[in-house]
Amino acid sequence: MKSILTFSGLNTFRCCPRKYELRYLQGLTTREKPETLTFGSAIHEALQQWYTLPNDAKRLGTVLDYLDAQFPGRKGDLQVKGQWQRARALFCGYAHRYAQEEFEVVAIEREFEAEIRNPDTGRASQTFTVAGKVDGIVRVGKELYLLEHKTAATLDGSYLDKLWTDTQIALYSYYLRQIGFPIVGVIYNVLLKTRLQQRAGETEAEYEARVQVLAAKNKSGKSNAKRELPETDEEFEARLAEWYSRPEAFHREQIYLSQDRLAMLQDEIWEISQQFLDARRRGKWLLNTAHCFAWSRPCEYLAYCQSGFNPNVRDNLFISKPPHEELSLASKSSETAF
Ligand code: SF4
Repeated sequence: MKSILTFSGLNTFRCCPRKYELRYLQGLTTREKPETLTFGSAIHEALQQWYTLPNDAKRLGTVLDYLDAQFPGRKGDLQVKGQWQRARALFCGYAHRYAQEEFEVVAIEREFEAEIRNPDTGRASQTFTVAGKVDGIVRVGKELYLLEHKTAATLDGSYLDKLWTDTQIALYSYYLRQIGFPIVGVIYNVLLKTRLQQRAGETEAEYEARVQVLAAKNKSGKSNAKRELPETDEEFEARLAEWYSRPEAFHREQIYLSQDRLAMLQDEIWEISQQFLDARRRGKWLLNTAHCFAWSRPCEYLAYCQSGFNPNVRDNLFISKPPHEELSLASKSSETAF
């Protein structure tokens, strides 16, 4: 039986072979999930539910119930409460904006497995197959597109340019074509994350200080300024709803995939799989320190690498989990480490 190589694994290996070894062979996962990951995952899952219930009149309520369940600590933790309020506002805005879709949903969370082929001979790899899972496949007119959800902090020209470099999704299209889905492009479904925070209001000391400054500027030496009170939940939620009613809160970017680009990517995936095979055979997982601060944040394994792979650091920061949990196909593989 061949081993399954996922795209996220291949991408990780390409960025840093050691990172691949830590994540996929040792299965090390950080104990603490970053806030952005929790929020992004909750929204992603909510979208999947939304699109699996297209004709259900109660689907918004179902999705909001799901979001409620994702933030159980909201009653005792203001930060979690803020995330929950933002998640609900985002989804209500989304549901309103896309009450009528321009596409028809063909599949949601579609898993696939396909051969990796030598581009020169056309022969399938004897060692690996490749597997992945796409958010969705949709039909626009007579053409099929991948639907890919993204939550983003900002949306500008460079963000949109980066979508072109999304190798993984282009490769998904290539392999889905092989198994009978003639994908012509990708629709990126971008949802912006607001940075709005609930206003805490002024403390007595802050209010006094402000009044003194204002009074000093007045000829009368007095000020009628009122103390800013904390924003109520209703006020904050109304402000969030207003933010998510703006057109720029959501964006759809449609990208066509050329045959040339797909052929180039096929070459790449073969080469990476050969490099991977070599690394595995020799047990050499190089550290690519140029990648330690990619995406403007430190790699999750930075402290462990910096410690010289101290087992105490590992045990404090990570738990061990089986790799590729997201793929049920992987569980059928003879070697789940890939
Ligand atoms: S910290 Fe740097 S060297 Fe270590 S796994 Fe991450 S990217 Fe690789």
